[in-house]
Amino acid sequence: MAKWVYTFGDGQAEGASAMRDLLGGKGANLAEMASLGLPVPPGFTITTEVCTYYYAHGRSYPEDLVAQVQAALEHVARLTGRRFGDPRNPLLVSVRSGARASMPGMMDTVLNLGLNDETVNALAKAADPRFAYDSYRRFIQMYGNVVLGVDHHEFEAILEIEREKRGVGQDTDLTAEDWKLVVERYKALVEELLERPFPQDPEDQLWGAIGAVFGSWMNNRAIAYRQLHDIPADWGTAVNVQAMVFGNMGETSATGVAFTRNPATGAKELYGEFLVNAQGEDVVAGIRTPQDLTERARIEAGSEAPSLEAAMPEAFAEFRTIAERLEAHYRDMQDLEFTIERGKLWMLQTRSGKRTAKASLKIAVDMAAEGLITEREAVMRIDAAALDQLLHPTLDPQAARNVVARGLPASPGAATGEIVFTPEEAAARNKDGRAVILVRAETSPEDIHGMIAARGILTSRGGMTSHAAVVARGMGKPCVSGAGSVKIDHRAGTMSIGGRVWREGEVITIDGGTGEVMEGRVAMLQPEMTGEFATLMGWADGVRRLGIRANADTPNDARAAREFGAEGIGLCRTEHMFFESDRIIAVREMILANSTEGRRAALDKILPMQRQDFVELFTIMRGLPVTIRLLDPPLHEFLPKTDEEIGEVAIVMGVDPALLRERAMALTETNPMLGYRGCRLLLTFPEITEMQTRAILEAAAEAARRTGEPVIPEIMVPLIGMRSELDRMKATIDKTAAAVAQDLGQAVEYTVGTMIELPRAALRAQEIAEAADFFSFGTNDLTQTTYGISRDDAASFLGVYQEMGLIEKDPFITLDTEGVGILMRVGANEGRKAKPDLKLGLCGEHGGDPASIKFCEAIGLDYVSCSPYRVPIARLAAAQAALAMNESGAAGPSTA
Ligand code: ADP
Ligand code: MG
Ligand code: MG
Repeated sequence: MAKWVYTFGDGQAEGASAMRDLLGGKGANLAEMASLGLPVPPGFTITTEVCTYYYAHGRSYPEDLVAQVQAALEHVARLTGRRFGDPRNPLLVSVRSGARASMPGMMDTVLNLGLNDETVNALAKAADPRFAYDSYRRFIQMYGNVVLGVDHHEFEAILEIEREKRGVGQDTDLTAEDWKLVVERYKALVEELLERPFPQDPEDQLWGAIGAVFGSWMNNRAIAYRQLHDIPADWGTAVNVQAMVFGNMGETSATGVAFTRNPATGAKELYGEFLVNAQGEDVVAGIRTPQDLTERARIEAGSEAPSLEAAMPEAFAEFRTIAERLEAHYRDMQDLEFTIERGKLWMLQTRSGKRTAKASLKIAVDMAAEGLITEREAVMRIDAAALDQLLHPTLDPQAARNVVARGLPASPGAATGEIVFTPEEAAARNKDGRAVILVRAETSPEDIHGMIAARGILTSRGGMTSHAAVVARGMGKPCVSGAGSVKIDHRAGTMSIGGRVWREGEVITIDGGTGEVMEGRVAMLQPEMTGEFATLMGWADGVRRLGIRANADTPNDARAAREFGAEGIGLCRTEHMFFESDRIIAVREMILANSTEGRRAALDKILPMQRQDFVELFTIMRGLPVTIRLLDPPLHEFLPKTDEEIGEVAIVMGVDPALLRERAMALTETNPMLGYRGCRLLLTFPEITEMQTRAILEAAAEAARRTGEPVIPEIMVPLIGMRSELDRMKATIDKTAAAVAQDLGQAVEYTVGTMIELPRAALRAQEIAEAADFFSFGTNDLTQTTYGISRDDAASFLGVYQEMGLIEKDPFITLDTEGVGILMRVGANEGRKAKPDLKLGLCGEHGGDPASIKFCEAIGLDYVSCSPYRVPIARLAAAQAALAMNESGAAGPSTA
């Protein structure tokens, strides 16, 4: 008989944290905490396999599930001394979803299940009536919403009326009689909308809730979240049924959430919030302003409301001990949920806590120093892509600013943008390339697309653990939450702060590190890479095998590249050197000249400028390798188009403008991306190759003289498809180099290689390698030529393809290992057949993408080259790829 249900409680559990796939994260950790002897309300987990079964069998359950659930309920009844539906001593439970990966806010929990018109009396007698009816109305609202599909605004409207009638601001001010009335209204509402009474039988309630959890696995929010986070649909969710404990039993009860370390900064301090006389998600819902857990945090925040440490010292002390124990047990920062019922502490959840990139670095480095984890584990723990957050600007402390409001520093980093009040407007303006700040009272999962589109998020309600704060931290977006002085008027589409009204589109700046909201734009500073960042990067550099270079065309790029730790330049494009206004006329002159002499004369004007560019670049790079790509863009980009441009060139060349126009027309192409460019252009105008080779080699000699470090330039030929092309190119380069050596009176060193960016080049890599010193996979063009689409055009339909489910990821961002990757593997292996130590690199945007870097490690490339700002990400991703390869036992480059 298959086992569908696993129990936990009273120091024992059938599950364990290792059984996450089967029990979901929440269930596995509840079991683990129970086994550790921690105070966990007893309960049971219905496995993810039941979810899979449910969807494979037309939304029905395995036959023996009912019996197993009944047996588990009996078990819980024995441990709690309460029975489901017992009018004197009723068992109440929560029904909670829990997938393998945590999906915050995606599936809702039902609390206080088991309450009905009869059992509520028992609760009133055992505790007090106010508590009983408060619990009952919560249950009807949650169950009504999650299971029966009644919009929660309907419930809130009723509550609002009652509050107003009694003139009270907070729910805690309502009396037992008030709640009793609210319960009656709620039940009437449900009956009116659904044309049947609210279910009174606890068994019916339970199965309704279980069905709703499984059903919610396929709701739109859950599907969208899974897509965003690459979670497969067939993982399924588990259902946790757990005896209720009550944080809303009066002044000695409370509920709260905590992190074992500060999730924003990583500081080693217990960090969290709680509310007295509250239940479930009151703390994160932003209904009341939560209190700090520790005295230290309270004092820091300048808050008057007592901390848990002061208010309930015994429960707090026990909680702190448990928090420390769980962190040591899981060897990671934990995110905890707890409830105190009449002074007694209960643990309701533990999981690895989400944190900012800054915190994740600090925590990993600190934990390695504490001996809790190894340096290698520390390296593996950091999400390389999330480092991006740290490479973003912060506010310049010197800059003038006008702070108009303050909230909580919910997610660090600064952002400037136009105010928008709806996620739709955020998405629309973002599409137009405008920076926006999303301003909301508080956010909910429906706002996710707006949060993705916004540069930053500002909320007027909610604490550090509110939805906005948690999601923003996960996304690496600046967020200020709970800025109470911001009053949003949705109908008018404005917000007011103090006396001033702000309209949609006005610009503000937020600082998620301090909680400040400022008028207009404020100057920002580039980040510094010291402290934990430097330490962890050092560890990463110690284990990575791949070299990391940067794509850098200008001296500024080159300096940034060095600062970020690049070990050379993997791609220096020379196009821009031709487009500058003082050069372009000479370039046009060269192209439109109809004789070699004419071309040489024009190029002679460009040579000194080009040489100077390279001298600067080589000087900055001080002997590090620099790969320079010869001129690549399509010919047509250089052609004069307007009458004015044609006139300018005509004067310089002393020819008739009409003649020039004709010549320019003749050279126009319909599909320049696949046209007269790269080596095709260079082979027909060898004077360009000669000029560029001379500029590079003379500059290398000059820079070597200046810095005392020898420079060995790597000359890279673009768009090679055939070996014959490379042979011819190399002959021109070698001949020029010999002439330069003669002129300089010294030997010149250089290497000649090619980009592999055409499928033919990859397939014929063996013979091409015979003529090349190195290959660099130009994966931008290789993706374009493999797919037969230009990157710019792809943008318009890839999104549609993704929506249609035809393609998962944008192949221009994450290397398509099944198409482009196969060509790369073939190219690398064929190339190495000709030259076993052929140097292999990748240049292209994929060089900064962790998943693509992993693939480069697997096929044994020597280096990747990416944009300077992504160099740290690439260094870390390369280290992680190397460690993962070691672990999987794969030795060295694959030869498959
Ligand atoms: P989420 O996945 O959104 O965190 P949870 O299942 O953890 O949802 O539950 C939502 C809230 O209800 C949390 O605050 C949790 O601590 C609380 N809760 C869940 N089960 C119980 C219970 N048995 N007794 C008291 N509170 C509970
Ligand atoms: Mg929730
Ligand atoms: Mg939870």
